[in-house]
Amino acid sequence: MADPEQLQDALNRFVETDPGNKLPSGVSIFDLPLLGFAAADDPIFKDYQKESVIGPIFKPPEKWLADAVTVISYFLPFSAHVRRSNYDGPLPSVEWLHGRFMGEDFNSKVRRFLSGELEKMDGKVVVPALDQEYLADYEFFSSNWSERHIAYAAGLGSFGLSRGLITEKGMAGRFGSAITDLFFKITPRSSGGPFENCSFFADESCRVCVDRCPSGAIKTDGKDKAACYCYTRVEDHTRKMRLRFGYAHSICGKCQVNVPCEDSIPGR
Ligand code: SF4
Ligand code: SF4
Repeated sequence: MADPEQLQDALNRFVETDPGNKLPSGVSIFDLPLLGFAAADDPIFKDYQKESVIGPIFKPPEKWLADAVTVISYFLPFSAHVRRSNYDGPLPSVEWLHGRFMGEDFNSKVRRFLSGELEKMDGKVVVPALDQEYLADYEFFSSNWSERHIAYAAGLGSFGLSRGLITEKGMAGRFGSAITDLFFKITPRSSGGPFENCSFFADESCRVCVDRCPSGAIKTDGKDKAACYCYTRVEDHTRKMRLRFGYAHSICGKCQVNVPCEDSIPGR
């Protein structure tokens, strides 16, 4: 059996020391990661192919790596500096956008680092998000590999009303994953179901993300993904983002900060 602590230590060192995990001010984009493990033959991956979950577009682990044994997922929580920068105002803060764009560049570095560590353990590895087979369908807002769903499968948390994943380090951050033929002990999912960590689903005591959302996209019976996606696509903001970051679009992220599930599981 491969050693999860060895992998966690290596990831921690990389996140702590790599210069890619820095804002221009020198402040860290991400805190230390959480790591979780799912069996590649977990039936949940077949469930993800149902229309009611992700849909037939989803490719289960064995379609990426024929002799897949373990799916490894990690969560990179945004630092307090990045999170708090986005508390106010109707549009995403500059630090939040750095976290989204430069943070995702760094996340890709973490994916490659994880892949290298697994290869050093003599494992075969596929990183779906970096694979040429990776496919995102922006018309229907789905993809053939969903990092949030993989994180749920790997016991890292459960979904919130805003449809982010609430981990023990909260919801605000980025996810990544890899598939390997190495055997790791799996991280058990909590028995409370896919919405266990969200106070709305527990007792309807929280709707803070609904009130925080400037586009009205979060509803108690689901999320209007198109409204969320289009909210920041206002001309002036798009132009400024393109000039500053070279990217034209990012969601605002207001539902992930200044909410009870921002950096922990509410009530715990
Ligand atoms: S803000 Fe409240 S209702 Fe929304 S996802 Fe977080 S815990 Fe759930
Ligand atoms: S990212 Fe912004 S627009 Fe989208 S659901 Fe969250 S708060 Fe609403």
